[in-house]
Amino acid sequence: MNILLLGSGGREHALAWKLAQSRLLAAAGDSFYAAPGNPGIAEHARCIDLDMTDHDAVGTFCQAENIGLVVIGPEAPLVAGLGDHLRGLGVAVFGPSREAAQLEGSKGFTKDLCIRAGIPTARYARATSLEQAWGALKSFDAPFVLKADGLAAGKGVVIAETREEAQEALSEMFGGQFGSAGSEVVIEQFLTGEEASFFALTDGTSIVPFGSAQDHKRVGEGDTGPNTGGMGAYSPAPVLDEKLQSRVMADTIEPTVAAMRAAGMPYSGVLYAGLMLSPDGPQLIEYNARFGDPECQVLMMRLKSDLGELMLACAQERLAEAPAPEFSDDYALTVVMAAEGYPATPKKGGRIALGEAEAGVAKVFHAGTATSDGSLVATGGRVLNVTARGPSVAQAQAAAYAAVDAIDFPDGFCRRDIGWREVEREAS
Ligand code: ATP
Repeated sequence: MNILLLGSGGREHALAWKLAQSRLLAAAGDSFYAAPGNPGIAEHARCIDLDMTDHDAVGTFCQAENIGLVVIGPEAPLVAGLGDHLRGLGVAVFGPSREAAQLEGSKGFTKDLCIRAGIPTARYARATSLEQAWGALKSFDAPFVLKADGLAAGKGVVIAETREEAQEALSEMFGGQFGSAGSEVVIEQFLTGEEASFFALTDGTSIVPFGSAQDHKRVGEGDTGPNTGGMGAYSPAPVLDEKLQSRVMADTIEPTVAAMRAAGMPYSGVLYAGLMLSPDGPQLIEYNARFGDPECQVLMMRLKSDLGELMLACAQERLAEAPAPEFSDDYALTVVMAAEGYPATPKKGGRIALGEAEAGVAKVFHAGTATSDGSLVATGGRVLNVTARGPSVAQAQAAAYAAVDAIDFPDGFCRRDIGWREVEREAS
C-alpha cells in the first residue's frame, strides 16, 4: 500500500526508518511518501512539499496517490483536525481526532477527565481570568505549578517558588505570554518523585502497552539550565517496572480510553502518559497525543514488530486482531546533538560530517538538518539524535557516545551524561 508520513523531526526519521521495513510497503508498486521530511527521512521515503496546515491539499494528495495509511507525527496537525479531514475522505489515519487530541491540547480538559474517571493526578484548579487565578492560588502552597491550558511547545509550565512569583507569572500568562494557549490556566499541587514516560497504542477500544522511556529536558549536564524539547532519552525506564506498568495500564490508561469512548470522542493512536512516580504511586502529569521526541527514537530502536501493521490496525479499529508489539530486551539510548546556542539562539548552517558514526550499532536520526551544496548542514535547534542499543544502559550509552565522537559537527554540542541516573543505579 502507499503510506504518507507527516513531520520533519528526529521522531519522524525514526518512524520512517521503521515504517520502511513494514510488510505494508513490500509490494513492488508500493510508495512511501513523507512531507516535508528531512535528509534522513529521504533515505527511506520520497519527500514531498506539502503544507500540513492546508488540509485540502493533504486530502487531495492522498486521493491522487491512493494513500492507504497516513501517519501524523507532530501534535499541531492533530489538534488542528487534520486526521478528521482525512478520515472524512475515507483515508486511514494513525493519530487521534481533533476532539480526542484535547488530551494533549487542553490541560484543563485532561484534568477534568482524570477526576471523572478516578485517575491519579495532582489536585488542581482551572482559571479563565487573572482574578480567578489569584483567588485559586490561595488554596495551594509553594512551590506553585502554573500551566497554560493550550499547546505551548513544552514552554507553558511555570514552577514558582513564592506566592509573589506565582502572581507575577500568572499576570504574564493572562497578559498574552503564551498567546491563546494562556487564556486559561491550570494551577496544580506540586508533586515529588522521578518522572517517566509510558506509551500505549489504542484503536479506541483495545489497548496494548508500547514501552517506557525517560528523557532529559534540561540543556545542561546534571539536568541543569533551561528546558529544551529534550536532550536525550533511554528505553525502557527501569523505574517503571512490570508491576508499576500494570498499575498504570489499569489505573490510568484503561480508564482514560474508556472515558473518551463514553464521551463520544474515542481516542486512537499512541497515548503517551507523562508520569510522576510519587511516593503515593504513579500520578499523571500530562498526556501527549503523539510519540515523544526523542523518546520515539529509543522506542523504535527496540521495536521488533511491524510498525506499519500496528499503526494500520489502530487506524482500522482492529488492534485486538494484531499480534502484541514485541520489543528487544536491550536498552536503547539516544543523545541529542544540538546547534551551539540552543535553546535560546541556535546557530544555523553549521556543517556536519557523519563519518563512521553508523559503522557499529548506532543509528543517527536526523532532526534539524538540510543538504546544501551536497553537504549536510544544521538548520538550528536539535540537529541529530545519535541512538544505540546495548544490554545495559551503560553499554547503550557507551555505544551512543562512540558514535557521537565519530561525528564532525564543530558548531554542535551535546550533553555527555544522558542516562546518568540509570548508569549510577546499574553501577551500585
Ligand atoms: P512537555 O510537553 O514539554 O513535557 P508541557 O508544557 O506539556 O511539557 P507538563 O508536562 O505538564 O507540560 O509539565 C512540564 C514539566 O513540569 C514536567 O515534565 C514536570 O517536570 C513539571 N511538572 C508538571 N506538573 C508538575 C507537578 N504537578 N508537580 C511537579 N512538577 C510538575
